[in-house]
Amino acid sequence: MTGVTAYIALGSNLENPAVQIEAAFGALATIAGSRLVKRSSLYRTAPVGFADQPDFINAVGAIETVLEPRALLDALLALEAARGRARTFANAPRTLDLDVLLYGERQINEHGLTVPHPHMHERAFVLVPLAEIAPDCVIPGRGTVRELLRQVDQRGVRIDEGARKAVNAS
Ligand code: AMP
Repeated sequence: MTGVTAYIALGSNLENPAVQIEAAFGALATIAGSRLVKRSSLYRTAPVGFADQPDFINAVGAIETVLEPRALLDALLALEAARGRARTFANAPRTLDLDVLLYGERQINEHGLTVPHPHMHERAFVLVPLAEIAPDCVIPGRGTVRELLRQVDQRGVRIDEGARKAVNAS
């Protein structure tokens, strides 16, 4: 299968987040016309925006896909819905959040679909896991992941050994 490499951000801070993220990686691998080619470690990250909520587990996966960007987004939204995500308010706690970070080097500005994801270049919880699997990847209009990582505060983001244990135990 030849396709485009797309990068997907995964995040959860409810209902055993590490298990949610591992399950989401499993689900990503089942999306039609796509295969999971790389995945980062799980990271424990401090909440951004609305601070009075549990820490998040974040990770990034690379998929190779023949789906067009909109079809890929729809597949991700279906996976979120299957995990029972309720949309309450911006930056609220969530069972599973899946975002299209990058779709090859395409820049897309459509209703309901912006790629590269508009905040990815300034978020350590995205850049740290992305740098683990694709440090030389280019964020169109912004620079390489490696360069952008130097400009963010990484203190709230660390590999979660506890998360690994939680997954093994489930
Ligand atoms: P949120 O749950 O806050 O991540 O927002 C999800 C909504 O953002 C979806 O309904 C999408 O229509 C929209 N959206 C726009 N661009 C993207 C993207 N690159 N990845 C995921 N969702 C996106």
